[in-house]
Amino acid sequence: MTNIKSSNLGYPRIGEKREWKRALESFWKGDITESELLEKTTAIRLDNLKKQQDLGIDLIPVGDFSLYDHILDTSASFGIIPKRYDYEGGKVDINTYYQLVRGSDDAIASEMTKWFNTNYHYIVPELNEQQPELKINRALKYYNEAKEKLGINGKPVLVGPITYVSLAKGYHQDEFNDLVNQFTPLYVQILKELAEAGATWVQIDEPIFSTNVSEEVVAIAESVYQTIAKEVPEIKVIFQTYFERLFHYERLSKLPVAGLGLDFIHGKSLELLQKYGFPEDKYLAAGVIDGRNVWRADLQEKSKLIDQLRTYVKEDQLIIQPSSSLLHVPVTKTLETKIDPLILGGLSFADEKLAEINLLTQVANDKKTIDQEEIINSTEALEALKEKYRSNDSVAIEISKLSEEDAQRDVDFKERLARQKGSLGLPLLPTTTIGSLPQTKDVQQTRSKWRRGEITNEAYESFVKEQIAKWIKIQEELDLDVLVHGEFERNDMVEYFGEKFNGFLVTEYGWVQSYGSRCVKPPLIFGDVDWSEPITVKESVYAQSLTDRHVKGMLTGPVTILNWSFVHDATPRTEIMKQIALALRKEVEALESAGIQIIQVDEPALREGLPLDRAKWDEYLNSAAYAFRLATASVQAETQIHTHMCYSNFEDIFSSIDALDADVISIETSRSHGELVSTFEENTYEKEIGLGVYDIHSPRVPAIEEITENIDRALQTITPESFWVNPDCGLKTRNEQETIDALKVMVEAAKSAREKITVKQ
Ligand code: GLN
Ligand code: ZN
Repeated sequence: MTNIKSSNLGYPRIGEKREWKRALESFWKGDITESELLEKTTAIRLDNLKKQQDLGIDLIPVGDFSLYDHILDTSASFGIIPKRYDYEGGKVDINTYYQLVRGSDDAIASEMTKWFNTNYHYIVPELNEQQPELKINRALKYYNEAKEKLGINGKPVLVGPITYVSLAKGYHQDEFNDLVNQFTPLYVQILKELAEAGATWVQIDEPIFSTNVSEEVVAIAESVYQTIAKEVPEIKVIFQTYFERLFHYERLSKLPVAGLGLDFIHGKSLELLQKYGFPEDKYLAAGVIDGRNVWRADLQEKSKLIDQLRTYVKEDQLIIQPSSSLLHVPVTKTLETKIDPLILGGLSFADEKLAEINLLTQVANDKKTIDQEEIINSTEALEALKEKYRSNDSVAIEISKLSEEDAQRDVDFKERLARQKGSLGLPLLPTTTIGSLPQTKDVQQTRSKWRRGEITNEAYESFVKEQIAKWIKIQEELDLDVLVHGEFERNDMVEYFGEKFNGFLVTEYGWVQSYGSRCVKPPLIFGDVDWSEPITVKESVYAQSLTDRHVKGMLTGPVTILNWSFVHDATPRTEIMKQIALALRKEVEALESAGIQIIQVDEPALREGLPLDRAKWDEYLNSAAYAFRLATASVQAETQIHTHMCYSNFEDIFSSIDALDADVISIETSRSHGELVSTFEENTYEKEIGLGVYDIHSPRVPAIEEITENIDRALQTITPESFWVNPDCGLKTRNEQETIDALKVMVEAAKSAREKITVKQ
């Protein structure tokens, strides 16, 4: 009897109905005490463990649960707490922990950024201030808990030292080695204590090796894992990578570890085995079930893959697992009541994926055969879905006829600019906002009531209209130049379009963690995407009817809609991106013919979609720019296309931003102004640009001097004729008064900057 094991890499924290989110937020509001928070979150954690136990997983991850973020947990366990917070050493208490992410009166919050190519955000460690020390062995704490409470001999999960230091900031590249070396003994200590407590397997996540790291970093890994192997030989370390293949496979596959965790979904890992083989002394922890998507796996096919993998490993040195932590998928599909049964049959969320892993492991251990019903079912369910995938032949035909010209505007930028200046009649340094305005409790509650059927469509629509009218008036009083309708009708910029396009569906409970307590509910793309009727025209036209100023139409771009959805993989992603672009193109045209002269198409997810492998960047960026242009190119020269992105570090994708051919781009910069300005010094950018002049993520109302300084600094490199004044991002998370106060200051700053320029000229 073989003993191939099943494993999991991480389980969603948020609970089936986001109980976790509610617990955190109640604690922040002061509605529950610290011990109540711990009680609630412990219950969720144990429940998660119990489920994995019941689903028959052999290696259950422990220590992957968090009260916010696992990188923040790692920082806290090593005492890496910037000095600006109230921290006096020792174990980091809960209030300090949350100060890092929420800021305090006198300390700004830590930076957060996207976790590899996902929409999960981690808190960036700052390594310039303290020497790391082991303040608490979290892994041990949760290992013991699982053992005592549920009799689980868990597999502790740690973020590896090289990945941790790579993701941190505040040091110079020269110090990289030294820093890693400071952490290594702490990892040794953690592992020793785990060994004493009885742990056998430990998963050390080193996803940084699924990116293009240098040979020097590989050498560091060799030395670190050599030390660990020597000091703690009794622990079986799995060197875990995911989201791409393992780079430097030839060298890294020889690391002195017990197991190598590879992603067989997102990188060509199989080719690596074919080319270089697999070391005899190691376990292959094979990620064969997609941890990033919600579609069911064809278990017959997966079994064949597993058979193939077995030819590379010795006897039963194989572990069957998801391709990554299941943090990136919703918890369970069993709560969904509104999804077409055929589609539901083709879905698999975290719990269902673990069941798939269990089945595959049973097949591998000859406890089941692949012609058994449960296995065949998966193949049949996917077969049945095929009719849904290709739901609309006319879309495929339209796509096949597309040419490069379809994605080109008729008139080049310089000429468009001249015509737009003439027809729009905007002042120098025009002021505007990014689109959304405060989503107050009232707005949220009214939408919930409408969704629950407690108020009629008419009542809801007239409520939205009232909000629009109120804010058009406010924006006029503020004397903004280009107004927005405020996006009151939208819960989320992607889900909103997902609900209206064909080929999409939205779930009831399909939440995944995005940052902290904030979760998103990505729509599912199951079929051909298509537009059937105007989506945003009604609100934009209504807003425009109330004012003589221009109101911007507001859409989410094709790349962002694709990247923030769960997309089935029967059709290539680039083709679906074109489908979305064509659908948006029809919406853009509908807005234009309804008299909207400025249309913004947001692409905040463009950058995060960059492949981890740099060799794949060009292909991605080209298809992204093509899709954006396809969505926006059919308008007249006088119609001004805007786009918006919520990050500023785009030195390396500068030319692609230009290739979008948007007339105006607004980007976030208030927290990294200097860097961005230098990007513009080094590159020529002819189009118009609005660098965010204040940070909307904080409730603080900016001082006029700060905004003026930001404007002045930008004007050192960007000509006043091409500069727009706007906040960093949408205002939906701010309250009404903060928003009005901040915008007042912004408009005032813009006006005085304008005066200075006119005087000079
Ligand atoms: N128009 C959107 C808003 O203002 C843009 C949001 C975003 O960039 N994430 O909310
Ligand atoms: Zn933004």
